[in-house]
Amino acid sequence: MFRKVLIANRGEIAVRIAQTLQEMGIRAAVVYSDADRTALHVARADEAYRLVGVTAAETYLRGDRLIEIARSCGAEAIHPGYGFLSENAEFAQACGDAGLVFIGPTPAAIRAMGDKISAKRLMQKAGVPVVPGWSTDGDADASTLRREAQRIGYPILVKAAAGGGGKGMRLVRGESELAAAFEAASRESKAAFSDHRVFLEKYIDRPRHVEFQIFGDHHGRAVHLFERECSIQRRYQKIIEETPCVALFPERRAAMGEAAVAAARAIGYTNAGTVEFILDESGAFYFLEVNTRLQVEHPVTELTTHRDLVAAQVRVAAGEPLPFTQDALSQDGHAMECRIYAEDPENQFLPSIGTLRRFLPPAGPGIRVDTGVTTGTQVSVHYDAMLAKLIVWAGSRHECLARMRWALRHFVVLGVRTNIEYLQHILAHPEFVAGRIHTHFLDEHPISIASADVSREALAVAAWASRGDGGLHLAGSGDGESDEAVSPWRSTRGWRAY
Ligand code: ADP
Repeated sequence: MFRKVLIANRGEIAVRIAQTLQEMGIRAAVVYSDADRTALHVARADEAYRLVGVTAAETYLRGDRLIEIARSCGAEAIHPGYGFLSENAEFAQACGDAGLVFIGPTPAAIRAMGDKISAKRLMQKAGVPVVPGWSTDGDADASTLRREAQRIGYPILVKAAAGGGGKGMRLVRGESELAAAFEAASRESKAAFSDHRVFLEKYIDRPRHVEFQIFGDHHGRAVHLFERECSIQRRYQKIIEETPCVALFPERRAAMGEAAVAAARAIGYTNAGTVEFILDESGAFYFLEVNTRLQVEHPVTELTTHRDLVAAQVRVAAGEPLPFTQDALSQDGHAMECRIYAEDPENQFLPSIGTLRRFLPPAGPGIRVDTGVTTGTQVSVHYDAMLAKLIVWAGSRHECLARMRWALRHFVVLGVRTNIEYLQHILAHPEFVAGRIHTHFLDEHPISIASADVSREALAVAAWASRGDGGLHLAGSGDGESDEAVSPWRSTRGWRAY
């Protein structure tokens, strides 16, 4: 087993990986930018190395520096986390070339899945259902395009082969829009990914996004760890994830699980990955893509399967067999994750920056909070605005929802705006409660937080927590000052009671 691993990341995922490494008796080395000198992941690490600069490009994306640091500090492996260099085949290759183990799949697997056209072809060959569509290796002439689109049937999505984060994607409702959409998607993709190749895909109406956690080792074993329902998205970004998915009965779950494992086998997949599917209203499912990394939402899988996915990643990367067989895996109870962002839902979800005056996450039975911030942390514009992941477990979906509502009500963040109230409104929506969700849920059911019924309990905690802060006082709290202007009961900006 490794003695030391370098975590090439920051924030909550660096903190989370460090915990598992330390539990395994492995030293956790981290890196930090100049903006992260006092970050929690640095405090938790056994060793920390400075990356000069502040922007991601100057720091966490500097593969050459990361490899240099890993080698000079004596780390045997690098865990990339998610984002940054986690799905960069060149970086994975460079780690190997430098004699370091990249904790993730092979560069070849990353490359194969990074191209949506080749990934789809590979999956089709392996018998995994894919969305009906059309692609070409060359350039498409207008008449071929029209003919193929006709065959697929409108509406159609034009997607970029190298796409990600919804970029280079265009919805085409009829033939008159086709040529222009093809051009535009191609141009956008060229600008964002230096790759102009786009393809056509049937647009599935109101689908669910259901993904399967897969895991492979270097001894020929490949398993899945069931599904995650990730349909609650805003602009293609997931914000609430849960497992099990209410739309899967045992036969369908088994069929999708088998397809996910077939996908893993088709690429000789090693380490942790995710096979994304869309599930239509009739119950048919289609392969979307494979994410070749540990996902943000992996904790809901951990809580229901009682497995540590990071520990399994480390073991597999070290050459050990997967610590579980398919038969040993089962789903227990229900888990849900809410992503807590420093953003302002009342102002187009713009990032909300500033110092966290108080950060008091809830704790209690069945509650897990993965975070990289503490009271005093400066939330900056340089990195992702996610403050924490609130994950809860309970025996049933009903109890899980009640627990999540309780936990959100007791989540105190002062100093920046957050989406906590917005999340509470989604969780209270009758359609969400009934499990009738799809990827357009938030477009079809706009959430207005203007009518927020502020929890008095959370307000009281917030007011109490901010006493002696020097900037916030509870009005009439008897401290001799009548500081109405900065009272948390009056303040309209810069803090949230829950
Ligand atoms: P990206 O890599 O840019 O995230 P994906 O292919 O994973 O692109 O798709 C992102 C999201 O777009 C999916 O979660 C789903 O909501 C939607 N989507 C993708 N393909 C289709 C499709 N054929 N029909 C309907 N929705 C789709």
